[in-house]
Amino acid sequence: MADIIQLLPDHVANQIAAGEVVQRPASVVKELLENSIDAGATSIKLVIKDSGKTLIQVIDNGKGMSATDARLSFERHATSKIRSAEDLFSLNTKGFRGEALASIAAIAHVELKTKQDQDELGTIIEIEGSEIKNQEVTVTPTGTSLCVKHLFFNIPARRNFLKSNNVELRHIVDEFQRVALAHPDLEFLMYHNGSESFNLPKSNYRQRVVNIFGNKTNEKLVPVEEETEVLKISGFVGKPEFAKRTRNEQFFFVNNRFIKSAYLNHAINSAFDGLVKDGSHPSYFLNLTVDPKSIDINIHPTKTEIKFDDEHTLYAILRSAVKHSLGQFNIAPVLDFDRDNNLDTPYNFETKSAPTPTVEVDRSFNPFREDKSLSRSNGSTSSYKKEPAAQWESLYVGLESKGTKTENDFSEVRFESEPENTSLFNGDKQIENKQTTYQLHNKYIISTIKSGMMILDQHRSHQRVLYEGLLKHLTVKESVSQQLLFPLSLEFSTSEMDILTKLKVDLEHTGFVFLSFSEEKIEITGVPVNVPESEVSIILEQLISDVEQEVPDSHFSATDLLAKSMAKSLAIKTGQSLSRFEQEHLVNSLFACKEPTVSPTNKVTFITMSVDDFDKKFI
Ligand code: ADP
Ligand code: MG
Repeated sequence: MADIIQLLPDHVANQIAAGEVVQRPASVVKELLENSIDAGATSIKLVIKDSGKTLIQVIDNGKGMSATDARLSFERHATSKIRSAEDLFSLNTKGFRGEALASIAAIAHVELKTKQDQDELGTIIEIEGSEIKNQEVTVTPTGTSLCVKHLFFNIPARRNFLKSNNVELRHIVDEFQRVALAHPDLEFLMYHNGSESFNLPKSNYRQRVVNIFGNKTNEKLVPVEEETEVLKISGFVGKPEFAKRTRNEQFFFVNNRFIKSAYLNHAINSAFDGLVKDGSHPSYFLNLTVDPKSIDINIHPTKTEIKFDDEHTLYAILRSAVKHSLGQFNIAPVLDFDRDNNLDTPYNFETKSAPTPTVEVDRSFNPFREDKSLSRSNGSTSSYKKEPAAQWESLYVGLESKGTKTENDFSEVRFESEPENTSLFNGDKQIENKQTTYQLHNKYIISTIKSGMMILDQHRSHQRVLYEGLLKHLTVKESVSQQLLFPLSLEFSTSEMDILTKLKVDLEHTGFVFLSFSEEKIEITGVPVNVPESEVSIILEQLISDVEQEVPDSHFSATDLLAKSMAKSLAIKTGQSLSRFEQEHLVNSLFACKEPTVSPTNKVTFITMSVDDFDKKFI
């Protein structure tokens, strides 16, 4: 039989490589920005049309390329950045694979204009799907302009796979911000569909952070500086009280390269332990400088993950540096009356006066009443929870592992009537008969039903209840709001304000009352009932980030998204302990919903287990 193995033609190999390097427009943006930085540019301009689907252009004032280099730059494994494998261990540039331009040119229409300072004239090259269409001499300023049009024009599947403009733009902005944060000493500009999105002059690091995330960021930042033999840290963490619901203000840079590291993120979280609320994420903008020899950035094709030689040491240094900064900041707190003092506890013991001892009084204690169980039931609620807990938990543990029955035949769910009784917490035996709900691990609510028992996820169930309520308000367009004593003023970046403006009317239908709505600021005088004032900014932040991640195309889905997002923010969290009344109320409200079986995001809200199921386990 004849030989059948052949070498792939270059354009096919390039297209395959492109699959790895170019996932979406944002990947092109990243590669081009990095090339400009590697070329020593001091000013870099990014121009985008239709979230990069129509055009991505990067113009820099770097060193440019000769005509031959310009041509070679599109060859695979063509790079000026490394010569030998050894160079891989002392990398000072962003790129080194020599794959980016070849890959991009394989799947788009590319126009390169470039000139070196010493040359009179520059070069223009046009390539479509790896095929050179034109190369000539041209007049162009020193530096490089790379224009990428019709991305994925020859891979319709990939093109169709792209997300909405909102989502793709969000990815581009993320890449742009990461690169701009890593290089405050360079000027960056970004334009989208003809209007300026960012104008970031050369500045110091604090100014760069503020220019990107808005003026309100300035007061949040706590400097972190540390220098040891193995690691230098500089940058900022956000004050604990500004911790956000989303993670989009968390940045690590290692040797000026943005990286993701769950491990180092954990180090920061542990430094903030006890200072931020559950579910909130502290902001950080931290630059780590290490010996290039001690890291391997080669383990991930898109290079956002790296491997450190000695992670444990880095973890410890990072954690203590952040703790130290937070401690310093707490020694001289700013005058801020809104501050939640609970957040400070670990660091200001010295200045704290001794707490006044509290005396626990059983208000219901009546020396003339004989029935002991009554006084006990009205007293500490925790005491009754503890006793049955062991029983219930052990019951649940046994069931959990064996795949619980998840199909929810709602018709089967019938509640037992709720017996009103006075000896509810009296004896273990009676509990299973009398108490209709029980909270497990502050996460699940267990309720008895005719056929056996039902286990509700408290967070998801409450989301469903809130969601349907909010949707009703939004569609009926009448809602109740509570007046704030003083107007609440919140600042947002321009892109955040764009989103809020679009949702203003819907927000009003949920109960928000706005006094003013200007370019960077909103003033709120009324909020929906049940929304605590302290949660307002978190809810709006969450909403903005949800909109950025999703696609509110029609009006209907914008309303839906708003209801979902607010339900998520406002719902009882896992970990929250609920009174018996609250538990029962939640169960009843859930089953008053139109679709009680799933959360607004289609996750199961409860499961049932029949006595038969139990019987089988006890064989
Ligand atoms: P890599 O960056 O990994 O070397 P690329 O495919 O991104 O690979 O680029 C190939 C080469 O093209 C680079 O090594 C560099 O010499 C040259 N090059 C790319 N972009 C620029 C630019 N903006 N200015 C000057 N030279 C560039
Ligand atoms: Mg490159």
